[in-house]
Amino acid sequence: MTETVDAPTVTRIPHWIGGRRVDGGSGHSGPVYNPATGRQTGAVDFATAEEVDAAVQAARDAFPAWRQTSLAKRAELFFRIRELLHARREEMAAILTREHGKVLSDALGEVTRGLEVVEHCCGLPTLLKGDHSEQASTGIDVYSIRQPLGVVAGITPFNFPAMVPMWMWAPAIASGNCFVLKPSEKDPSASLWVAELLREAGLPDGVFNVVMGDRLAVDALLEHPDVAAISFVGSTPIARYVYENATASGKRCQALGGAKNHMIVLPDADIGAAADAAISAGYGSAGERCMAVSVVVAVGDVAQPLVDAIKERIPKVRVGDGMDPSSEMGPLVTGEHRDRVASYVENAPGEGATVVVDGREGVPEEGFFLNPSLLDGVTPEMKAYVDEIFGPVLGVTRVATYEEAVRLVNESPYGNGVAIFTRDGGAARQFQFDVQAGMVGINVPIPVPVAYYSFGGWKSSLFGDLHVYGPEAIGFYTRGKVVTSRWPDPATSKIDLGFPQTR
Ligand code: NAD
Repeated sequence: MTETVDAPTVTRIPHWIGGRRVDGGSGHSGPVYNPATGRQTGAVDFATAEEVDAAVQAARDAFPAWRQTSLAKRAELFFRIRELLHARREEMAAILTREHGKVLSDALGEVTRGLEVVEHCCGLPTLLKGDHSEQASTGIDVYSIRQPLGVVAGITPFNFPAMVPMWMWAPAIASGNCFVLKPSEKDPSASLWVAELLREAGLPDGVFNVVMGDRLAVDALLEHPDVAAISFVGSTPIARYVYENATASGKRCQALGGAKNHMIVLPDADIGAAADAAISAGYGSAGERCMAVSVVVAVGDVAQPLVDAIKERIPKVRVGDGMDPSSEMGPLVTGEHRDRVASYVENAPGEGATVVVDGREGVPEEGFFLNPSLLDGVTPEMKAYVDEIFGPVLGVTRVATYEEAVRLVNESPYGNGVAIFTRDGGAARQFQFDVQAGMVGINVPIPVPVAYYSFGGWKSSLFGDLHVYGPEAIGFYTRGKVVTSRWPDPATSKIDLGFPQTR
């Protein structure tokens, strides 16, 4: 499979700084492909440290006026952003499909889930409310306020090029900050599209900026003295790197990492429903979701009928170009990633697993396609179990008891999403109590929280304390201040060197 360069149709993808497109001057760029054809369609500029600095400066310059903008005006603007995004969601979805490869219906789902975060931010006056205690001490009132941090930055992965940036820029800007986004270099066009839409909605220049690039741009953001906070979503090794370096330079940081999500199927579960869920959550978006199910843990005698039911369903998954409305699963993001994912199927028999369905068979010549694969007898020592494969490869691990299943999840270094399939309410309730993961699904295979809760994993799936979007995002993007106030009668004033008493 070759990655072909079709020079005449390659579009340059520049930065967005201070409310306009800015061509990069580094002379370095990265290729952007249409994964369905394997052809290069874009060349994205890679920023220098000076270009990152220019974006941060633009954000810094915009901050005083943006911070002053009333909550009512900011809310009004967010309603306009919401309306524009909603009206043009299909245009945005098509951009995602062309650069990421996911099928249009899935891309539309991504935009819709991102929109939910924007909608939640339309209620920013309520979200930013503080507390007030009258007469905390005699004649003294105490109240809390939340204030923006200043310039904050987001660094995002390839797999949700619209939604994950929305998780960040929407609450950051709503809270009064100015934002610099460094999107994935694999599918950067959605970020430029959003930048233009935000300007059209009336967002002042400099409040939202985009720097394109690779590690150099990330390092420049991590080291920049005027960047107060970093939100990161990506793989665990880079999340750890970003967290360590951002916090070492005194920044607030939330860094969400990779995952290995288990779906536990208890013996009493409905086999058909569990198999449907495993197919949907394992192969949707070609397995390139941080909440994808990658291990099905079959408890007791449910294993063989479950494997048979998943196997029977796989040939019905329609794999093809994401722009074709009949496709249910598109290609992987690059040829390199596709080959890496395929290597887990190649190596599975050598590790002792059984390849029940081999997705390398019947793959089209063009594009970065891999069909769904199913591995059985996957055990915790195997690389197919340990590594985050991030592709359409589902492994089945057979265990004898519920306790063994929970131990597997809890011993995993990751703790993003987890699901249990059962008809026993008591078992499900015990599971939510026992399991060490940030997001739990009960008969729900991809438990991504709604926008008014927060999203985040445990263990190596999240470095930092606060999760993204929802109430925790407001906490992340603002600093608390508590004011103690008194309006005394000057006639009662006296000197008192003692420590202030409240009684
Ligand atoms: P990635 O870690 O390779 O890249 C993420 C970002 O980091 C990109 O902007 C990239 O340019 C930058 N980057 C890459 N290498 C870097 C380096 N050496 N130094 C500094 N910056 C670097 O991740 P990806 O392949 O784009 O995305 C897939 C990963 O993201 C998976 O591991 C997936 O689980 C994870 N993810 C996690 C969540 C979550 O919420 N926990 C959500 C989506 C994706």
